[in-house]
Amino acid sequence: MIQQTLILIKPDGLKKSLTGNVLTRLSETKLDIVAASIVKVSRDLAEKHYMSLKDKPFFDDLLKYIMGEYHKKKVMALVYWGEDAIQKVRAICGSTNPEEADPVSIRGSYGRITTKGVYENVIHASANEQDAEREIKLWFQPDNIIVDLYPTKTVKEATPRRVWA
Ligand code: UDP
Ligand code: MG
Repeated sequence: MIQQTLILIKPDGLKKSLTGNVLTRLSETKLDIVAASIVKVSRDLAEKHYMSLKDKPFFDDLLKYIMGEYHKKKVMALVYWGEDAIQKVRAICGSTNPEEADPVSIRGSYGRITTKGVYENVIHASANEQDAEREIKLWFQPDNIIVDLYPTKTVKEATPRRVWA
């Protein structure tokens, strides 16, 4: 089944200069990159992205982590597209807990748990098709993805927008 999945290289990955290593590992999937962007994550975006975890004891630390308060204030967001994209990417990422992840997976190779107990696991990847749709729509607008993934509509913009001078 052709699928799309949202990938985030998290702030620890950028701080540790792991972007190249992570992209190289992901290229093993032979999937297509159809969108890429560097994003400074707002609290609103962080809360929406992790909304299903808002009752967890680690939620506040997780928001700080993804907003880059412990590393660099940026993440690299990507959309990968192709046959069984979700499962292929999750397999290369490894388990959520980096200490339990397969040592050759991305999280097993580069992740750690801090002394405060925060999982610094380098990468996010959508868990299923429903999450992928919600997450891709949260992180990207249709014009910034080079294939048509979901239905779109055209709206007349009412609010002023910054353009190149
Ligand atoms: N997380 C954490 N402690 C936990 C579980 C999760 O710090 O006990 C963080 C970790 O960064 C993880 C993110 O919350 O990647 C989202 O958790 P989820 O259970 O969705 O795992 P994932 O889908 O990222 O493998
Ligand atoms: Mg998840």
